[in-house]
Amino acid sequence: MEISSARKILKEKFGYDEFRPNQESAIESVLNRRDVVVLMPTGGGKSLCYQIPALMLDGVAVVVSPLIALMKDQVDALVANGISAVYLNSTLSGREQAEVFRRLKAGEIKLLYISPERLIQSGEAFAEFLSELGVSLFAVDEAHCISSWGHDFRPEYRQLSALKKLFPKTPVIALTATADSFVRNDIIDYLGIPECGMYVSGFDRPNIYYGVQPKSASEKKLLEFLERRRDESGIIYCLSRKDTEELASWLSACGFSARPYHAGLSKETRDQNQRLFITDETRIIVATIAFGMGIDKPNVRFVVHMDLPKNIESYYQETGRAGRDGLESEALLFFSYGDVAKLRGFAEVEGNLEQSEIMLRKLSRMAEFGGIKSCRRRYLLSYFGEELLEDCGNCDNCDTEWDKIDGTIIAQKALSAVYRTGQRFGLNYLVDFVRGSENKNIRPAHRELKTFGVGADLSKEEWFAYFKDLIAQGYLKMSEGKYPTLSLSQRSLEVLRGEKEVSLFKVVAQKQKTATRVSRSEYDADLFERLRRLRKRIADEKNLAPYMVFSDATLVDMASKYPTTESAFRMVSGVGDVKFSLYASRFIWAVSKYCDEKGIETPQLETPVAAYPPRSPNSRGLSARFSLKMFRDGLSIAEISDERKLTEGTVFRHLTEFLAEGEVSLEELVPVSKIEAIRGCLREIGFEQGLGALKLKLGDEYSYDELRAVRIQLLAELDANRSAAEIEPKSSE
Ligand code: ADP
Ligand code: ZN
Repeated sequence: MEISSARKILKEKFGYDEFRPNQESAIESVLNRRDVVVLMPTGGGKSLCYQIPALMLDGVAVVVSPLIALMKDQVDALVANGISAVYLNSTLSGREQAEVFRRLKAGEIKLLYISPERLIQSGEAFAEFLSELGVSLFAVDEAHCISSWGHDFRPEYRQLSALKKLFPKTPVIALTATADSFVRNDIIDYLGIPECGMYVSGFDRPNIYYGVQPKSASEKKLLEFLERRRDESGIIYCLSRKDTEELASWLSACGFSARPYHAGLSKETRDQNQRLFITDETRIIVATIAFGMGIDKPNVRFVVHMDLPKNIESYYQETGRAGRDGLESEALLFFSYGDVAKLRGFAEVEGNLEQSEIMLRKLSRMAEFGGIKSCRRRYLLSYFGEELLEDCGNCDNCDTEWDKIDGTIIAQKALSAVYRTGQRFGLNYLVDFVRGSENKNIRPAHRELKTFGVGADLSKEEWFAYFKDLIAQGYLKMSEGKYPTLSLSQRSLEVLRGEKEVSLFKVVAQKQKTATRVSRSEYDADLFERLRRLRKRIADEKNLAPYMVFSDATLVDMASKYPTTESAFRMVSGVGDVKFSLYASRFIWAVSKYCDEKGIETPQLETPVAAYPPRSPNSRGLSARFSLKMFRDGLSIAEISDERKLTEGTVFRHLTEFLAEGEVSLEELVPVSKIEAIRGCLREIGFEQGLGALKLKLGDEYSYDELRAVRIQLLAELDANRSAAEIEPKSSE
């Protein structure tokens, strides 16, 4: 099978022009019926590696996925692209399952998502059923779950080793973002695919900006951070459940839309908050690490850690939830050595010295990351065994100009302060001590020491920074426990003896962060905002998550290309055939309207906004369609009525005929303020009431035509919801 037909599908079904590195080769291998292992970072584009072969090969592709909660979203996203996919798991009712089986047997399905236990536990009968259907390929998603070396071992994955025995000729494609060699070997061993092709993409997430700030006054800093991101989605991680709730309600009180998420909340609340987040109703989720595994939201723009994560693996995984769509995103960590001490207390695994040591070592690497003055990305990647040839230019340290100063004298003062006070005091005390503070806490005996006040020439902030630098460089050690104290290390003795010089970092200039770091992708932010609102309306009408209508990346592309014609719209990245036919007219209309208002010239290669071919040409009166075409050509209702010698009411009614199927949106016909009022009134008095009752309540400002239009739309929505409820399970997983 030709790779060129794969490229054609990439464009037609998914709307993309180019494969990403490794996608093409992985797909080619599967098409040649070879087993493959695909290692790509989150957001790298793993799904297409099996979805495209699934569409090209005969039979049904079976996708094993561990997260029942994700299956529905994955299937919905495929269906939104016009691809026939279904899932089988415990959330489906008996009737729904029967329907899935019927469609499988009828050969209507190209992809079947299933949990490992469902695939294996159903025993040989199910295997037989599958082999009768003909399986094109097995895709094992999150394949690291098979390995006990991974961070998410799931015993039921082990049973997948039966696959190759039952289906020796069917290609297996294993996918994961976890890449270490132990995990890799386990995947190959347990799946029984020793001859597999291996496609490894780098770990780097270049679109994520990494930043660390001192934890003091973190709430205030957080507010400033969020202030710059009013309309963006993000996750804020806290260590404790209580903190997530408190922070979420505080943020809400400050006018942000924020919800908490942790394992202690009722399942209902958790599901609801997660849903609100995915549908962009809620912008911010304040969560413990319980949040994240089940979410696939591509437009998370920032991830904040209020507390230090336990290790780099967790940090990288959690920050990795930002920017799956490839757009600029930011990770912010509030760092304190107090947190390091606190976590040390937790790191002890009872009765397991070896494990405790591993945990502590990982923690100290995390602490080191918080303290470094060099490129953060370089540090992270080297942790995972990758080398970055140049500093990234997209992290806080790359953005900061540091001066390396000879800090020997400063270090000697600090270290001797620690030494003279008996290595029993914490950072705050020591800073007060070297500065000769009046603070009553300072013990009288300490005031008599020679070192007391030797550092009065420097500010408190400067001393804090230098002490932290000394910790980061290993000249000072921090104790465990709630009130960590500082003590000397082997290295510091040499400094005190005057045998070693110390360099310290001093900030010279801090380039303005993000605010001036205008996204490198140039696009029209106002237009983007409008398109996003349109997307949200459509998503609500269709009961989809907004990202399933179009991704942020696709909207950004629209907001830079200004597509006002069908052919221009077809060139937008992420617009495949199905989405084109569903949404082109509304988006083109919105873009054209915007360009008109702002006087933006767009290249007109063809007649603008021709009414696209009707889905069912005879279902609407030709006259109505003619009005629609003129409306789409940019004429107002008054102008159309003038031109066509019809009353405005008639033209209005023509246009309302297209409401139910979404070819015309209600907002194009009725002012938004009125829509709200009419909707409210309808809910109050009920749909059964005639329009007269409505008119009586609302008054003369509202025409019958407007009232009717809103009612049609509402009924259509109710209908859509009802039929959606019939085919979709009320997911209880
Ligand atoms: P992963 O499963 O590796 O985390 P996904 O398969 O969810 O990543 O893909 C991440 C995003 O990248 C999705 O929005 C997807 O549509 C997009 N994407 C995938 N392949 C391409 C491509 N070749 N060109 C443009 N966008 C792509
Ligand atoms: Zn950097």
